[in-house]
Amino acid sequence: MHSATRIASGSIVVGLVVLALKSAAWWLTGSAALYSDALETVVNVAASAMALYALRIASQPADHDHPFGHAKAEFLAAAVEGALIVLAAASILQHAWDTWQHPHALRSPLAGIAINAVATLINFAWAQLLLRVAARSRSAALAADARHLLADVATGLGVIAGVSLVIATGRLWFDPVTAALTAVYVLWSGLRLIRHSAGALMDEALDDATLAQIQTVIRANGEGAIEAHDLRTRHAGRSTFLEFHLVVPGEMPVAEAHDICDRIEAAFHRAMDHLIVVIHVEPDNKAKRHGVLLLS
Ligand code: ZN
Ligand code: ZN
Repeated sequence: MHSATRIASGSIVVGLVVLALKSAAWWLTGSAALYSDALETVVNVAASAMALYALRIASQPADHDHPFGHAKAEFLAAAVEGALIVLAAASILQHAWDTWQHPHALRSPLAGIAINAVATLINFAWAQLLLRVAARSRSAALAADARHLLADVATGLGVIAGVSLVIATGRLWFDPVTAALTAVYVLWSGLRLIRHSAGALMDEALDDATLAQIQTVIRANGEGAIEAHDLRTRHAGRSTFLEFHLVVPGEMPVAEAHDICDRIEAAFHRAMDHLIVVIHVEPDNKAKRHGVLLLS
């Protein structure tokens, strides 16, 4: 099994263990704050299962139906995960409101805190592992999963602090207020995830630093050509797509123009990973002379 797929399967198992622990902590105490944490974990498990499925699809090579590959399946999964997180936040807010209106004493709060602390520790350890694998495999779904888990660690700590305050002060309202704060944080992380995935699904351009690097490569290897224009970039999963027009003297033989393209493409493959370059060659009467990269 591919290492990223194995990791994603591991996430589901870890998520189920953490979910069992956090549900037990909620069931023992009846705390709204611990409910918020358990519900967040339900989303985690669903998201991990989706990430695994998305990875399977994304790892398929380009085919007749999808000639640019299947990498965007990962972003789609991340967007759906964001939507699930927002739904979880709404449910937590609802529960916090109910508890605010009908406050009740917590049963065995210390046991609840201890169980939740173990679950939070497991999440933290697993998130560290996920981050390392995501960076190595440049997987958007795994990175989203890791960020989500880290958010879960933060909310777990917040929830433990909130329940501790209830024990220390005897003020029951700390419980629903902690749950509501958790909901706000969860909502924010979900919206950010949706924003990030939408950027990739909408073919957002590369960042300015990478664009500058691309222009440097073209300038350094475009000898014989006159200018480059209409440069367009986008990325999908691990692949980056780059296309531009290369203006050459009209009388230049096709073979010579093609040699320039090959030289630029070879330089790109040395400089950047997973870059797919398409160059459209044009004669000099197509030159634009402004907003362009001059090569001679
Ligand atoms: Zn052109
Ligand atoms: Zn060629």
